[in-house]
Amino acid sequence: MDVVNRYITINNHVNGAPQDSDFELKAFPLALSLDPASNVVIVKNLYVSIDPYQLNRMKSFSASQKTSDFAVAIVPGEAIDTYGVGKVVASTNPEFDKGDIVVGLLNWGEFTVIKAGGMLNKLNTMGFPLSYHVGILGFSGLTAYAGLFDICKPKKGEKVFVSAALGSVGNLVGQFAKLSGCYVVGCAGSKEKVALLKEKLGFDDAFNYREETDLNSTLKSYFPNGIDIYFDNVGGEMQEVAVSNMNINGRIAVCGVISEYLDSEKRAAPSMIEVIYKRIKIQGFLAGDYLNIFGDFLSTTCDHLRTGKIQPLEDISDGVESIPSAFISLYRGQNIGKKIVKIAEE
Ligand code: NAP
Repeated sequence: MDVVNRYITINNHVNGAPQDSDFELKAFPLALSLDPASNVVIVKNLYVSIDPYQLNRMKSFSASQKTSDFAVAIVPGEAIDTYGVGKVVASTNPEFDKGDIVVGLLNWGEFTVIKAGGMLNKLNTMGFPLSYHVGILGFSGLTAYAGLFDICKPKKGEKVFVSAALGSVGNLVGQFAKLSGCYVVGCAGSKEKVALLKEKLGFDDAFNYREETDLNSTLKSYFPNGIDIYFDNVGGEMQEVAVSNMNINGRIAVCGVISEYLDSEKRAAPSMIEVIYKRIKIQGFLAGDYLNIFGDFLSTTCDHLRTGKIQPLEDISDGVESIPSAFISLYRGQNIGKKIVKIAEE
């Protein structure tokens, strides 16, 4: 049997802010009958992840592109891989059967053909919705957990600052930090987001960075006794002023620098004298390097979800056609929590 596989690709390298015109929906017939010797799995994609880092892959050049298998450049016209959940519709790989629910590297499309060695695992949903396994129980959750606990090592009473705090990673960092007994302040780009941080997610305080004219004074007012941990999702000026407000022996997890992704000339220039004399640890990291703690992360987060100590925050669009606008929305601050596209019903 043949199906039509529709998928999203880029028309050209994307070196500035992504626009609708950078993307194209392609459609090709896909045969579901497989050669028995092929060792291939065909997955019907159900939920796919939408993440800011894809922009660095779309550029004609980014320093990120040669650093990890997940970061390789996207070739215009080709399918774009991403983390996602799907259902096996055909398989000649002995490890997978038709009907299996799987999680792994799928693509921004309706079907994914995965050869032997591709990143794919059977999914035990543990009773949670499939979408959770793309976000809170997937790489976004692992990113928050690894960056906060492995790099920042929060202690009760410490003061934690999180940027892009209502995003996929940031909201979980704040929630995990609250559960560790920390005082947590987040920043985000709208009044609505600030209200959600305080009222729904239990942040101690939050502010709209777009309304502030002097970010250094703003941080001083929210942290009169200094910051112990900064979870950096944005880079740029916020990173500079966070360093200036860090306490001695502070820790900064540099998770992402989204404010620098649109402009390769823009760079944070934090005061290195402060880094040295305050003995601040600044560490970049990639979630993909933390698969060894995935089991710990999953059991802890599932427990918190079951007891209601952590709130999932998802922003789900429908249909493969909505992938470009879902992706663009990240760069306009329009997402509330984890951005996911639902491609199909199970
Ligand atoms: P997200 O926060 O859900 O979405 C992106 C958010 O970034 C937007 O909603 C927007 O929120 C904010 N933003 C957009 N442009 C901005 C700008 N110019 N200045 C300041 N904020 C801006 O995305 P996410 O998936 O959680 O990712 C957050 C960061 O972590 C990104 O930098 C991403 O690349 C990084 N990341 C790293 C890893 C890793 O392994 N190291 C893994 C996942 C994500 P506002 O309304 O607050 O502006």
